[in-house]
Amino acid sequence: MEPKDLLSMNPAELTDFLTTLGEPKYRAAQMFPLLHRGLSPDEMTNLPAALKNGLREAGVWHLPVVRRKLVSAIDGTVKYLFALADGNCVESVVMRYDHGNTVCISSQVGCRMGCKFCASTIGGRIRDLTPGELLGQVIAAQKDMGERISNIVLMGIGEPLDNYDNVLKFLRLVNDPAGINIGYRHISLSTCGVVDKIDRLREENLPITLSVSLHAPDDETRSAIMPINRRWGVDKLLSACRAYFGATGRRISFEYTLIAGKNDSEADAEKLARVLNSHLRGKHDAMPIHVNLIPVNEVKETGFRHSDRAAVRRFAAVLESRGIRATVRRTLGADINASCGQLRRAEEKGE
Ligand code: SAH
Repeated sequence: MEPKDLLSMNPAELTDFLTTLGEPKYRAAQMFPLLHRGLSPDEMTNLPAALKNGLREAGVWHLPVVRRKLVSAIDGTVKYLFALADGNCVESVVMRYDHGNTVCISSQVGCRMGCKFCASTIGGRIRDLTPGELLGQVIAAQKDMGERISNIVLMGIGEPLDNYDNVLKFLRLVNDPAGINIGYRHISLSTCGVVDKIDRLREENLPITLSVSLHAPDDETRSAIMPINRRWGVDKLLSACRAYFGATGRRISFEYTLIAGKNDSEADAEKLARVLNSHLRGKHDAMPIHVNLIPVNEVKETGFRHSDRAAVRRFAAVLESRGIRATVRRTLGADINASCGQLRRAEEKGE
């Protein structure tokens, strides 16, 4: 039989698995919290030696290993390059806020969405992360920092909704009261707009926050920088957002990365305000709209330049004047290249 990944199992699966190894029912309740604190079975002093031996054959346990760690001298942001069991690497970032630590985790090794400004997609998608590897990033970061992590954002390498089942299983694992126990309201998932999966997520009825990477106000501009838009255009995407809000009542935030000369004019801002207001604000159910403006992080390979400060300010002012809250994303970890995908690429190229 294939060895089973211990960190990917939910309590029921762990119970069944340990039962097949001849263990009593209470064993899973003993192991689950310790696994989620980052202990290997060998480190668990309350397990019988025979079980530890059995687990070496029947189970696999692997926590992401810190390959590189960069700490920002400016704001204490920590960026990890984690090595997975098969040698592939992903990035996670811990940001320190007054309200607690937030970890940004990756969902895939690479990405196949092809957004033109993004470093993570340049080499395509290598593979999906398992639930245990998604969880492992949170556990390993928490263990390394020696501090509790209270918020999670799925905004690292990969498209979380392109790895739907594993991400959903992860969300339930990390929310488990016997494990890390992070509330759904403290979790955000960012998507480039995989509409059929946004619809599915709506039906799961989990009160997580959805972040939508919009980046353009119309199909022509959006399709030129985000290939997913050719499958589901701006109308379909915003309709899915509206339905998501209608069902969950959860605010959706929109990410808008400003690229000089591509999507950052005042006319673009007007168009954006118009399309958001017309899709998301019906007569009876005003949905709070929040746009995060992010001057594009310049990636060598893409050739895109970020908008200058004045353009960012003008863009924000137009949105505000149309009743849309806009914030300019504070840059954390500017000195450690904290935006995703770049460290992994440097590692692959041997830099
Ligand atoms: N695939 C998901 C999550 C990962 S990307 C998504 O698309 O939302 C996280 C955010 O970073 C997205 O909003 C993405 O569009 C943005 N992003 C990617 N490359 C960037 C860059 N070079 N500069 C600024 N933002 C970038």
